[in-house]
Amino acid sequence: MSRFFSAKYASLQAYTPGEQPRDAQYVKLNTNESPFPPAPAVIAAAAQEAERLNLYCDPACTELCKAAARLYGLEPENVLPVNGSDEILCFSFMAFGDERHPFAFPDVTYGFYPVYANVNHVPAHIIPLRADFSIDPADYCGLGENIVIPNPNAPTGMALSVSQIEKIVRTNPDSVVIIDEAYVDFGGESCIPLLGRYENLLVTQTFSKSRSLAGARLGFGLGSPALIRDLNTVKYSVNPYNVNRMTQAAGVAAIESLDYYQKNCMTIAENRAYTTQALAALGFETLPSLANFIFTQSPAIPGGALYQALKERGVLVRHFDQARISNFIRVTIGSRPQMDAFLDTVRAILEERGL
Ligand code: PMP
Repeated sequence: MSRFFSAKYASLQAYTPGEQPRDAQYVKLNTNESPFPPAPAVIAAAAQEAERLNLYCDPACTELCKAAARLYGLEPENVLPVNGSDEILCFSFMAFGDERHPFAFPDVTYGFYPVYANVNHVPAHIIPLRADFSIDPADYCGLGENIVIPNPNAPTGMALSVSQIEKIVRTNPDSVVIIDEAYVDFGGESCIPLLGRYENLLVTQTFSKSRSLAGARLGFGLGSPALIRDLNTVKYSVNPYNVNRMTQAAGVAAIESLDYYQKNCMTIAENRAYTTQALAALGFETLPSLANFIFTQSPAIPGGALYQALKERGVLVRHFDQARISNFIRVTIGSRPQMDAFLDTVRAILEERGL
């Protein structure tokens, strides 16, 4: 830390992104990316837009807002495009949290929430998952605090139903409830249909996973016009040109390539079932996931050791050295050849250890 670093950030514990190695060709199953390239129309749209990179982009993302509103059955004033859904999460902590308005979220969840609470000086109310790693909706009903819940949750992959979420939203009318739907396209149920009824609901989505655009950085905040106006006030106070020209064009083309992405999501769901079954045959216990990753543990080998052994053999997964979940690894569901490479490597590791 330099002597210039503000005291207000002295205790900040920054988020650690998943490894993005440059040194080797890994079977990369650690950051929940899509194994499929963007749709051909998306690549063409981004390339065409590159010719105009000398000009600033549209700060209002007008065409993208219209296209997203059509996709989600909303109006453009319900939509705020952002630089990856991480950005809308940060804007939300900034806009709706303060000393008197904490944010509640689960103990085992997306690791960025405590960081956003911390950097924005918003108290965090951490609510433990049940012993089976599910969220108990009753813990959040009538809480009277802002709430952020991923649905499906990460890194468990386990989901709540829309009716369970509706109860949380309905019983907290004076707080903002954010449902982070980063992984909803792989089998979960979206809460977007609730938006017309609840002005305190904000749904966040991303094109990083199901739409193969992690590197383009595109996410959305979806909510009542009043919430979106507040979030725009924050956006225009931080970075008005937050979604670049190529990404805006890629986003519109991605929305128009819906069939391509729906097919990919179905393939991921099939590969998830295939991998879960193969792991069960090896004695692994896997939480019931509706996401593009699984959270799995073996009674025979600790999560940290398995992560390390896989990495040494060129397979990258994610391990969280954290209470309750240190025996698990999180494995992104990729293509069938990637999953076979992962499974073969797990088998080899178990055999080597006589397990
Ligand atoms: N929410 C959850 C639960 C996530 O796991 C991620 C991915 N790290 C994000 C949001 C943010 O994704 P992105 O910024 O790429 O949209």
